[in-house]
Amino acid sequence: MTSFFLRGVRLFDGHNVFENTNVLVKDGLVAGVGPEIQADGVPCIDKPGHTLLPGLIDAHVHPEGEFHGPEQAFRFGITTLMDMQNREAAKQKQWAKERTDLPDIKSAHSGATIENGWPAALLKQIIGPEASDFAEWPNVKTVEDAEPYIEQALADGSDFIKLFHERGRAVGLPEGFLVQPSEAVQTAVVQAAHKKNLKVVAHALSLVDTVEVLRAGVDGMAHTFYDEPITQEVKDLYKTSGAWVCATLTPIGILTGEIDDIMNTFASDERISSRVSESNMELLRKETIMKKEGATLKHAVESVQQLKAMGVDILAGSDASNAMASIFGVGLHVELHLLVHKAGLSPLEALRAVTSTTARCFEWNDRGVVEVGRKADLLLVEGNPAEDISDLLNVRGVWRDGVAFKGHPGFPRSA
Ligand SMILES: [Zn+2]
Repeated sequence: MTSFFLRGVRLFDGHNVFENTNVLVKDGLVAGVGPEIQADGVPCIDKPGHTLLPGLIDAHVHPEGEFHGPEQAFRFGITTLMDMQNREAAKQKQWAKERTDLPDIKSAHSGATIENGWPAALLKQIIGPEASDFAEWPNVKTVEDAEPYIEQALADGSDFIKLFHERGRAVGLPEGFLVQPSEAVQTAVVQAAHKKNLKVVAHALSLVDTVEVLRAGVDGMAHTFYDEPITQEVKDLYKTSGAWVCATLTPIGILTGEIDDIMNTFASDERISSRVSESNMELLRKETIMKKEGATLKHAVESVQQLKAMGVDILAGSDASNAMASIFGVGLHVELHLLVHKAGLSPLEALRAVTSTTARCFEWNDRGVVEVGRKADLLLVEGNPAEDISDLLNVRGVWRDGVAFKGHPGFPRSA
């Protein structure tokens, strides 16, 4: 059944809230929105007291390995995952094509890495040289490497380009531990990507790296920084470049050890534990502190506040992986909590960050908004998350391409 009619719902369409309205879905697409729209012969679902939203978009994840992570994300209403570097992206996109009970995946595929740079050098040290096929990773170290890298990314099917500009300062790595591409190389990659109409999003965790990579002309940042307070220089660069920022306050708060109380509150919420695998419940309580002295979530929060006040687009991303406490699904809801309760976004602004803003920034014109012609990727929750963001965890329905999610084996799990 990919045609149905939802009657009497509150709608957050990706931009604003409309009380007591109707949404018609036909053949997997939104076919009508408004109080005057009729069922038109399709099955009718009455949901007073519920809010319908676009399926959520997690703008920063790493779904490597098995599909348990994406499955879990789907149980939390996430219908699109944006993968920020993944050697197995082609396989995972194929799964997402074959199964409507998984989020769709947009991916950078192999990022523009450099030998012994971030994240390879760190993975080699933490997990060992067997952590990945490092010899096969892109090695973009000169300006001349940029165009062939972009050609390969296009051949791989990359939906956007991911850069890494990381000298390890915020995370407390010694200077020189990581090989870092020069600003000239990053600029060449950006220019080669733009020639092919690919957006470029950059990883950086420190102020100095953010400044350099914004100067290289990237379209957006995959993190804000947390080692130093925001400066006029970086604000000016955001302003002149028009770049967006995917805040990722959740992984930053984990790395600085400042959100343990919040993570514990989420872990003991039955709406969480019933949807999360047992192994991920353990991961949710894992500590991973990595910071230089003086690095703090407060710098990150302040940067988001000030960038938001300037009109910079704020995106919501969890940095979910199988390695850190920001687990799939939950990490994004923690992020929304932090954006509202720490960075001062209104719940409505946070809802935009996790739907239409990301879709607009990446030019995904088929999702992120509930309007005629877009994919019926939808989330139904009880309550009103535009007033209380926590209501977003009251998941009562998820649809991808108009197909209703019936559940995964073993879930809901008794806590
Ligand atoms: Zn990441």
